[in-house]
Amino acid sequence: MRASQGKQMFPCPICGVATDVRITKKDKPYITCDPCGVQLFVRGPAGINAFNRLVARGETIMEALSEMEDRYHLNCPECGTTFWAEPNLAKTSVFDGHLQGFRCPKCEEVVPWKTTK
Ligand SMILES: [Zn+2]
Ligand SMILES: [Zn+2]
Repeated sequence: MRASQGKQMFPCPICGVATDVRITKKDKPYITCDPCGVQLFVRGPAGINAFNRLVARGETIMEALSEMEDRYHLNCPECGTTFWAEPNLAKTSVFDGHLQGFRCPKCEEVVPWKTTK
């Protein structure tokens, strides 16, 4: 599936500056940020789906998080603690930056993120 609406942008995970989304010869999206020397390749199908969703919405994970910060709380299945889903507790994949869940502030169990809003 190819992008049809022209140039797509994605923010550099380090400095936050929007960079062009490019596509490798194998149809995998990637970004490069020259000032940071960051190259981010998204190789897995699940990561590519998540990445495309973020690009299509034009927002970053952190923006999505801060938007729902006020209204979402999680319940830790390990210790029963209820805590707010805050960006600083977010556990994201180091490979594609997708959100895996939130770390319980009490027992540090990562509670998986469910996208029910
Ligand atoms: Zn950068
Ligand atoms: Zn816990």
